[in-house]
Parts: sequence; C-alpha cells; structure tokens
Amino acid sequence: MPRFCVNDNAQDNGDHEVHDLSSGTFCLPNPANRVDLGFHADCGSAVAAAGAVLGQVNGCMYCAPACHTS
Ligand SMILES: [Zn+2]
Repeated sequence: MPRFCVNDNAQDNGDHEVHDLSSGTFCLPNPANRVDLGFHADCGSAVAAAGAVLGQVNGCMYCAPACHTS
C-alpha cells in the first residue's frame, strides 16, 4: 500500500497537491512542506484524508494522475 503526503504549500490556484511517496520523485514537495497522510490503498482515499485537513486538495498530475482534476 503506497504512502502519501500532501504539500502544505498551496499552488497558485489554491490546490494542495497530494503525492504518492513511493512513485513520486521530482514532483515531491520540499520535505519541510510535506504533511504525512500515511498509507492509503489508492489516491482517492489519500485525497479525502488530505481534504479533511487542508480543504482544497488535488492529486499530483505526475504521481497521482488518477486523482488529478485541475
Ligand atoms: Zn507528485
């Protein structure tokens, strides 16, 4: 089960991107900006967990494309 994190630094459009730590590489946020989401079966579950904390979230287009919507 992959482990996810979310960037506590929002993008210009206000989205906080959710990343898969196991498949993300260049796209991962600076370690200081990562909020650990723990292990999730898929990015949908990770995005839901991140949204409960940060509100406006979105899957990373590189490592969580199935959950990338904007
Ligand atoms: Zn990513």
